Amino acid sequence: MWSIEEIDDDRNPFGKAKDGLVVISPQAPCEMVADIARHEWMHLQQRRHHDSPKAYYGGQERVELIADCGSMLLGSTVTPYLDPERHAYIGQCQPGDYAEARRLIDWPGWRADAQP
Ligand SMILES: [Zn+2]
Repeated sequence: MWSIEEIDDDRNPFGKAKDGLVVISPQAPCEMVADIARHEWMHLQQRRHHDSPKAYYGGQERVELIADCGSMLLGSTVTPYLDPERHAYIGQCQPGDYAEARRLIDWPGWRADAQP
């Protein structure tokens, strides 16, 4: 599920993950929408499977890096946290990052312990 809403965040103006939804800004460039959706969906998966992704990964930079590693595995070509040409650059995906991203992609889009 996703929605289109204004996003008031200078650092991430085009997309966010909120209340189980991928949110895309109406200002997001059309050619980036699929890449933004894949990145934000990775954040939803992180939240579904780790109570506190930031604590689990040891900081927000790792949260973003792994979201982009997964986004790339899903076909994104815009992955700013992996791109040394962009100011958002954090680093490259290491084998453990790919393994975590694959786990998130393979896990169901809900929490097993939240089933009725
Ligand atoms: Zn992100």
